[in-house]
Amino acid sequence: MPSASKILDGVTLSSLLDDHYYAEARALGLRRLETSASSGFIDIEGPPINDESDIILGYVISRLVLSAAENQALVNYAALSEARRAEGFLNFEENEGLVEIANLIGIITVELHGSDFDINVMDYVRAASKLREGNWKLSNRGVSKGIVTLDRTTFIRLMREVIRQHLEDIPEAPKEIKKQFEGKIGDLKSQISKTFTERIGGLENAVSEREAEAIKELGHFNILKAPPCFNLNLLDLQSGVNLPHPARFFITSFLSALNQDSEAVMRLFATAPDFKESFTRYQVEHITGKTSSEPYVPPSCDTLASTGVCPGPNSLCRLIRHPLSYYRTMTESEKENSVRLERILLATLDIEEYNEKFIKQNMDNFGDFDFSYTDNVESRKLSAAYKNDDSSKVKVVISDFIGRSKVVEIPGDERHIWIPKATLNIAEMDSNTNYECFSLTDWRVALSIEEAQNKSTQISLIVKPFEINSYENQTKKMFMVLDVVD
Ligand code: SF4
Repeated sequence: MPSASKILDGVTLSSLLDDHYYAEARALGLRRLETSASSGFIDIEGPPINDESDIILGYVISRLVLSAAENQALVNYAALSEARRAEGFLNFEENEGLVEIANLIGIITVELHGSDFDINVMDYVRAASKLREGNWKLSNRGVSKGIVTLDRTTFIRLMREVIRQHLEDIPEAPKEIKKQFEGKIGDLKSQISKTFTERIGGLENAVSEREAEAIKELGHFNILKAPPCFNLNLLDLQSGVNLPHPARFFITSFLSALNQDSEAVMRLFATAPDFKESFTRYQVEHITGKTSSEPYVPPSCDTLASTGVCPGPNSLCRLIRHPLSYYRTMTESEKENSVRLERILLATLDIEEYNEKFIKQNMDNFGDFDFSYTDNVESRKLSAAYKNDDSSKVKVVISDFIGRSKVVEIPGDERHIWIPKATLNIAEMDSNTNYECFSLTDWRVALSIEEAQNKSTQISLIVKPFEINSYENQTKKMFMVLDVVD
């Protein structure tokens, strides 16, 4: 911000790093980095405990140390922590102040529109490009005359993202500065390492904990959809295990197939105990196709099992043959409502061949049904939920759960529809009455339900009853499971 930059007027780099007058600022700069690496949040007191100029100069010092440290993982942790801190301050600003700050930062241009914020669509796409799917998708936002309109909460969250991305891009420290202040920066770096070591038992631990957070921030990749083979090998990598080559190859090629660039993959490996940047970069860039003719395809489940990378399948794994199919299956809830409903119908009716008229009849019954529900869904007994047309929260046991693949042929077309589905019945604890449910195609929900069944525990579900037309021209009432709660 221009007002903060004024504090730097007349301050030289040598005085900033050497002068006793700036000792407090140097200490605050180090504290910024320590607290961001250890907790993910910058913990420094504002005025009157610390002088405002010292806080701002401390920020400059932290950036200098980061740029000279040449460790992108640290830069990223600090960027996320700084962005969270900024978000905290933005929450206290009036709407006009938010617009002024956003426009002064200059990465996106914003205009206030009543109590909402109007952003040019190109700015929005650039700023939200690394936020995970769902509501951040442009298609879920709505664009009018090239403008995306956001409410205050969403706008502040977007600002956090703008700041994070901006701070991840750190300029290289100029050579002469690096050389002139090598010793001083070295001292600062070792001071940070020492603090990390004392406080949290080693820099690598801090980095690896924070790395887990960093992967959640990876572009459009969502770790919750990844198969067990990916998650367990990643966990090993982050707990300091030297992964064998087949596991590294799998992680790299899997992420590359999901459009992660080499730099994002490099960041994951940066905390491996045997990390050597040039060697890892060579391998990663080769596998992701940056320095080879095309990216390598990730291995199939059979290969991963034979090379010891597969830790053993879960019930979804048993329906697929490739880890990418697993990931894609887990994106079912992102499909359009009508597509999801049609797939649920095909799976539930268990028909072999697509029958347009019959499907349309059932789809019409669903009307404008969607899978969302409000926070205050009423809790009901299962028997009462069955008689009530609204969504209900029910506590149930899973009496049957079977996962299997369904293939539906399309007449006159070589294509077919493939649906991995779970059929299930639910009941109240200690009751003999089972209630049939629509087949589940959302495996995010299905896997949690299966886990409850395996553990014989109760599980809370959001359900809604619906009537379905079966082939014999009869109607049948079943529960649609909307979500798992708790
Ligand atoms: S079966 Fe395939 S997807 Fe599942 S854990 Fe093993 S390798 Fe991964």
